[in-house]
Amino acid sequence: MKRLISHESLAHVGHVRNLLEQSGIACLVKNEQLSGGLGEIPFLECLPELWVVKDSDLARAQALIRDMEQTAAPRGPWRCRRCGESNEGQFAACWQCGAADESG
Ligand SMILES: [Zn+2]
Repeated sequence: MKRLISHESLAHVGHVRNLLEQSGIACLVKNEQLSGGLGEIPFLECLPELWVVKDSDLARAQALIRDMEQTAAPRGPWRCRRCGESNEGQFAACWQCGAADESG
């Protein structure tokens, strides 16, 4: 297992996990239960973390996250990587050929 990200927002970590699982990358969240009474534990060590189960998925997962950050809202028009068609930002898949807006 490899740690992929840590982030103060569990919602963000969950969002990334969904993205990766949709792409067939098995992953899991650690430190999901943030609560009071952390005592002496430094806050930074308690951030929610996302781990990829298979080390071999790490590079692909990092690329997906990079892509996600680059295409983060507000979305503008994007160009399909498969057929080159221009698509409006609100469409997650190409209207022309159906390819998802993701790097290949
Ligand atoms: Zn297309």
